[in-house]
Amino acid sequence: MNKKPYFISTSIPYVNAQPHVGHSLEYIETDAVARYKRLLGSDVFFLSGADENSLKNVQAAEKAGKDVQTFVDEHSRYFSAFKDSLNISFDDFIKTTEKRHKDGAQKLWGKFDKKDIEKKAYKGLYCVGCEAFFKEEELIDGKCPDHKKEPEVIEEENWFFKLSNYQKQLKELVEKDIIKITPEFRKNEWLAFIDRGLEDFSISRSKERAHGWGVEVPEDDEQIMYVWVDALSNYTNALDFSGDETLYKKYWVQGEEREVVHVIGKGIAKFHVLYWPAMLLSAGMPLPTEIFVHGYMTIEGEKMSKSLGNVINPAELVETYGKDAVRYYFLGAVSSTKDGDFSKDRFEEFYTAHLVNGIGNLTSRVLTMLEKYSEGVVPTISADCFHTDKIYASYIHAFENYAFEGAIKSINELVRAIDTKISEERPWEKAKNGEDISELLYQLVEGLRHIALLLIPVIPDTAQKIFAQLGYSEEEIKSFLFDKEKEWGVLEQGTDVKRDNILFARLTS
Ligand SMILES: [Zn+2]
Repeated sequence: MNKKPYFISTSIPYVNAQPHVGHSLEYIETDAVARYKRLLGSDVFFLSGADENSLKNVQAAEKAGKDVQTFVDEHSRYFSAFKDSLNISFDDFIKTTEKRHKDGAQKLWGKFDKKDIEKKAYKGLYCVGCEAFFKEEELIDGKCPDHKKEPEVIEEENWFFKLSNYQKQLKELVEKDIIKITPEFRKNEWLAFIDRGLEDFSISRSKERAHGWGVEVPEDDEQIMYVWVDALSNYTNALDFSGDETLYKKYWVQGEEREVVHVIGKGIAKFHVLYWPAMLLSAGMPLPTEIFVHGYMTIEGEKMSKSLGNVINPAELVETYGKDAVRYYFLGAVSSTKDGDFSKDRFEEFYTAHLVNGIGNLTSRVLTMLEKYSEGVVPTISADCFHTDKIYASYIHAFENYAFEGAIKSINELVRAIDTKISEERPWEKAKNGEDISELLYQLVEGLRHIALLLIPVIPDTAQKIFAQLGYSEEEIKSFLFDKEKEWGVLEQGTDVKRDNILFARLTS
């Protein structure tokens, strides 16, 4: 069977500081989708990376008294380390100071339709924090609304991209979901934005202002590319766009029913909904098919900020609670589309309710009963009393719409249904009275297998641990196909099961 190619990316953060929980939200969400798609049988290319060319990085390096490359190398590692610390299964991690990236960005520039770019003198208000120009009316009290800082007045000759050439086309692409923007309210927001008229934007800066850092504009040795222009092209550059284009053709160009998905935060939607598609149109390249826009994270109801000192490094959370606890909270307790909040109390409540008392306790209960009343062997297959087909329908619907909360609700529904079944049927009493409970035991242990399957995209380590107790090898789990595994009755009679250590430790305070 030829697997269907599927491309998904996170955005590439500036690496001027350590990652915070907002970054981990995006990584976890994107990873869950990538794992879900793999389970469906797609040939997934999951890309992540680091934006090392931003002027912010240069400033942060200068402040730290470090050589810029040394500084960005060091900081990029905090992000690529998510691979292990949060089990983020990206297939590649591109850094924008790599040669393949710089070559690719220049190749893209070279493909821009000449009618779309021009060099002209420009004067504008620039916020380095945002790496973007502002109009007077966009400022609040003369300051950048995000950074609360007055922008710099910049006057120089720059290259410009005529975004206005694509106004009509962009509107149609978004309106008709050819580039599908999820959630719907973001789509409407950007349609309204396009209707107000699109302005041309600067795509280069003087070498001097860029401190000589960044990607050079081809055939203009005085100019460095605007950081967003090179940054956006990371998505295709990681696919060896500047090389032999094999990966690019496979994962970006694809064939019928392409799926090219970007996962981004709301703050950079403009670049992905407008700039990037327009640049691709100008270069005659295929477009992303979907952009999922998530919200921001607040901490205990407050905006995350260095000055408030409430920035949480996800590594600390992982150390305290474990990676699956962190993944479970960010997918299940935080809205995927609106702003979400991290609260320690809520985190611990969620952990105890769903992982300790829910999944963890149920796993141990079911396997204990199998050991006690069935000699640790799976009994004869019996019918599905949990309507798992309905659970799968709502789970799939949720995942297809990036509604991770909904997916986790479906999982918890099944956990509750099995728990209820146990309390109602009281198998220990029946066994004591000499009744045959093998039908019930099968339902419980097969139900547990379904929970493990549903958990694969969400908390893969835990899923693996449950499957291991049900006698599955790591290799078997890797080759799972959802369509086959989601049938009832897959767990075979006679399988040896073995209870292991508890999955989630109770919190002590
Ligand atoms: Zn700003």
